[in-house]
Amino acid sequence: MYEVVASIARELGAAVEFCAPMSKYTSFKAGGNASLLVTPKEISSIPEIIAACKDEGLPYFILGNGSNVLVTDGGIDGVVIRLGADVSNITLLDDTTLLCEAGASLKSICMFALEHSLTGLEFAYGIPGSLGGAVYMNAGAYGGEMKDVLYSVNHIDLEGKIGELSKDELNLSYRHSAYSDNGFTITSAVIKLEKGNFEEIKAKMNELLGRRKEKQPIEFPSAGSTFKRPEGYFAGALIESSGLKGKQIGGAQVSEKHAGFVINKNKATATDIINLIKFIQDTVFENQGVHLETEVKIIGK
Ligand SMILES: Cc1cc2nc3c(=O)[nH]c(=O)nc-3n(C[C@H](O)[C@H](O)[C@H](O)COP(=O)(O)OP(=O)(O)OC[C@H]3O[C@@H](n4cnc5c(N)ncnc54)[C@H](O)[C@@H]3O)c2cc1C
Repeated sequence: MYEVVASIARELGAAVEFCAPMSKYTSFKAGGNASLLVTPKEISSIPEIIAACKDEGLPYFILGNGSNVLVTDGGIDGVVIRLGADVSNITLLDDTTLLCEAGASLKSICMFALEHSLTGLEFAYGIPGSLGGAVYMNAGAYGGEMKDVLYSVNHIDLEGKIGELSKDELNLSYRHSAYSDNGFTITSAVIKLEKGNFEEIKAKMNELLGRRKEKQPIEFPSAGSTFKRPEGYFAGALIESSGLKGKQIGGAQVSEKHAGFVINKNKATATDIINLIKFIQDTVFENQGVHLETEVKIIGK
């Protein structure tokens, strides 16, 4: 079954890897293997790769840069389709409009916008995701979110048909989009920005990156904020006031720099990380009566 998908994917120019260690492809640097990892080189090959998975009865999972995903130590019985640097074209449609492929990193899109003196995306500089992951999550920071700049998104639906959602159909809200519910594969998106001043845009990007470096434990593997912000609270503050800053289970730790981040301090397994997440949820609920919902997507057996 996996051999059939792999050989079709290879014929379509994709790279394939059996028993692929997901620790290599996710920012937490933990977790087990995926049965098969397929890395398409062309957006146009994705419908056929998905069709091959379906024909063979194999589940598939779309991965971007893996910066918001934790794979369990049991790994993934299925095909992981990774949309990264090979499908990352960025083109200018008109003076202020970009068409970006799903694998383009937010960093490269921000740099492209800067080169063209386009403002509106500065907030995303420093978020280590791909465009696809950023749309799916409605990624945001420092008062901005993808919702502010997305014009439309192109996708492949569950029947393998190519389609598009306009801004109004994207249902964008805090760390949620229509794609969080529909299971479609995001292939590209149109981003609408405004003409700005090169030096001002650059200064804003550098300022926000500086704030990240100062406040966030980016020197350790993590998936960013582990939990969503509960209405009326900050997850980090709740965790800190529950006495959990620095709490460690195995190699996983509540960051001493920012309690909202669970980090892979020292060769953590996914189980260490998941156990620490559960411990935090239970302790915060007992102490403060607030349920912390994970922002990081935990997948696998
Ligand atoms: C140090 C650090 C800082 C961070 N800071 C922020 C922050 O400030 N703000 C913020 O919002 N996030 C932040 N994050 C989290 C993460 O970077 C974002 O959620 C990002 O948008 C995820 O993109 P990704 O490509 O890595 O997605 P992945 O982790 O690969 O995937 C995330 C989800 O999106 C889905 N997905 C990915 N690509 C596609 C696609 N093409 N089609 C359909 N579904 C897809 C996946 O199936 C998965 O469910 C941070 C993470 C780290 C490690």
